[in-house]
Amino acid sequence: MSAFASKSGRAVHPQSPPSGAPPGGNTELASLFECPVCFDYVLPPILQCQSGHLVCANCRPKLTCCPTCRGPLGNIRNLAMEKVASTVMFPCKYSSSGCSATLLHTDKTEHEDTCEFRPYMCPCPGASCKWQGSLEQVMPHLMSVHKSITTLQGEDIVFLATDINLPGAVDWVMMQSCFGHHFMLVLEKQEKFDGHQQFFAIVQLIGSRKQAENFAYRLELNGPRRRLTWEATPRSIHEGVQSAIMNSDCLVFDTSIAQLFADNGNLGINVTISMC
Ligand SMILES: [Zn+2]
Ligand SMILES: [Zn+2]
Ligand SMILES: [Zn+2]
Ligand SMILES: [Zn+2]
Repeated sequence: MSAFASKSGRAVHPQSPPSGAPPGGNTELASLFECPVCFDYVLPPILQCQSGHLVCANCRPKLTCCPTCRGPLGNIRNLAMEKVASTVMFPCKYSSSGCSATLLHTDKTEHEDTCEFRPYMCPCPGASCKWQGSLEQVMPHLMSVHKSITTLQGEDIVFLATDINLPGAVDWVMMQSCFGHHFMLVLEKQEKFDGHQQFFAIVQLIGSRKQAENFAYRLELNGPRRRLTWEATPRSIHEGVQSAIMNSDCLVFDTSIAQLFADNGNLGINVTISMC
């Protein structure tokens, strides 16, 4: 086996279990934990019907009886199965897409959240588009379904958001193409309960997290005798921009600042992308 076989660090092969897990091909055991309804894994807390059948925590609330024996679901906890579950190496849920990692159930969710085989969601903000697919399919998707998004060429462009005084929550989106990559620029306006409005501006790469680390972006608002600048690493569309916006890990400003830099209700944001 090559030294690179498990370079992701988390990918642990059944032949070399972590300390504490029994040796042997215990991924076989994982199949015992398959939910009969959705085929996902039944993980602790594990509840069984009166005859001992298992069903996962997602499916359980949707069922009125045991899917295997039609008996009552009851509330019987199976502590022995929970103990076994904590030693089993479960395959990543994206194994059918090529991920070879197997993990203890306690590490599974964290891995899957950042698994490079997780499908890409449509990067358009607003979550109205439910598309998902591979990275290679993202640009064709954007070009066929989101035709109205403008693309500008070059590392240094102006992202012009028109009518920033429109009421309510609004997203402005534009594409920038440079260094052989596509970047999606997003300006989002949110309205808080008290009517206070905030703007969030961010750049995301149509690419993986690793690829995004090779770039830096700068957003700049320029006005008479004033300048507001933000510099950061672009987000990968695999992570999405929503968590960054929620944590203000982007250019953030309020309505009064927007007014200082706006011209007739239009706001120009200078966007510069560089390689690092
Ligand atoms: Zn299920
Ligand atoms: Zn049953
Ligand atoms: Zn994975
Ligand atoms: Zn879409």
